[in-house]
Amino acid sequence: MSIQGDRVGLETRVESILTQDNALKVLSSFSRGGESKAIAPISHQSSKGGYYYPEIAQAIGCEPGEEIRLLEWLSDLGYLSKEMFDQLDVCPFCLGANLRFRRLCPSCHSKQIARKDVVHHFRCGWTGLEEDAIEETILLCPKCHRQMRHFGIDYDRSSSYHCLSCNKIFTQPEEVFECNHCSRQVPKSETILIPTFIYRITPQGMDVAKKGSLSGITVCRGIIESPYNLYTLKHIEDRIEELVMRYHRYQAGFSIVMMRLKQFERLLSEKGLAKATQTVRIISSVLAGETRKLDLPGLYDDHTFIIVLPQTLQKGAQVFAKRLLNCIRNLPPAEYLKGITTAIAIATCPDDGIERAALIGALKNRLARAEALDGDSIICEN
Ligand SMILES: [Zn+2]
Ligand SMILES: [Zn+2]
Ligand SMILES: [Zn+2]
Repeated sequence: MSIQGDRVGLETRVESILTQDNALKVLSSFSRGGESKAIAPISHQSSKGGYYYPEIAQAIGCEPGEEIRLLEWLSDLGYLSKEMFDQLDVCPFCLGANLRFRRLCPSCHSKQIARKDVVHHFRCGWTGLEEDAIEETILLCPKCHRQMRHFGIDYDRSSSYHCLSCNKIFTQPEEVFECNHCSRQVPKSETILIPTFIYRITPQGMDVAKKGSLSGITVCRGIIESPYNLYTLKHIEDRIEELVMRYHRYQAGFSIVMMRLKQFERLLSEKGLAKATQTVRIISSVLAGETRKLDLPGLYDDHTFIIVLPQTLQKGAQVFAKRLLNCIRNLPPAEYLKGITTAIAIATCPDDGIERAALIGALKNRLARAEALDGDSIICEN
């Protein structure tokens, strides 16, 4: 995982909160109220997302807001149903909801601005602060030194802003949000809206709560990485083991492709987590469209994709990789995707190894070399 600090991983990490024990505590807390019991969020300042589910947080003894991952996971598994409750504006960099509205000087971005009355002298065209024209009890134009007598005939007055730092006068301040978590300034139009949900227990959830066991359910991870609709790494690794076994038995070869966006780290730091996640989602949907039913597209880490191609040797894998590059190049030109290039590595069983570790080793090595090259690049040999 290459994303550290308060930048949350792209939801590929299994949080320690997702345990069987916690899942059962939550489901039994729901089941006591029956299927009609709905649990809604309430707003909470110290929860980073700006809201939490007090009853659930209390049931599992976590910090406010940490329980949301667990509720989402139980809903992915089909034990809870959810319905939209509200939407919140959050910071696109850290997904924090504690945003403060600020007005800034559009020229120098200073926060030191004040609302002032501004006067316009029709005769000479002077426009400036009324306080600069006041002489004792009259208004005297600082430019032509004539008295401005009649409002609407000699002069006009309007309310504007004055920057104390650069002295500019303007009617429309720059409006931004300041994030109280990561301290970044976010233009008003660039916050992202995230929904909050009301959860209810489903009949399947009731069954689990009654049985008091999640046995038969993969507790650690499902097969699908839900935000991206890709297979989980665990599932991919298991399938590679199976293909390796099949090779040993029947000599049926297969290929694995690893792919990474070269400018991902830059995208993440310049455009924020939301845009980076959005990009991973876009590529995920390209993968879903370009793979056959028997192929296995998944995430290797935050931004490295892995695609297992059964019954495909090196030539076939190269054709696939080229088609993928083309699709990514021809994506609708989102501003933040400009200049993004792709590194692709291919390894084939048996040519590059007949064990999982050897194949993954070859892939990592080739991907690093592909990343060091300029532009889109595919490497399939040592
Ligand atoms: Zn004047
Ligand atoms: Zn200014
Ligand atoms: Zn932030």
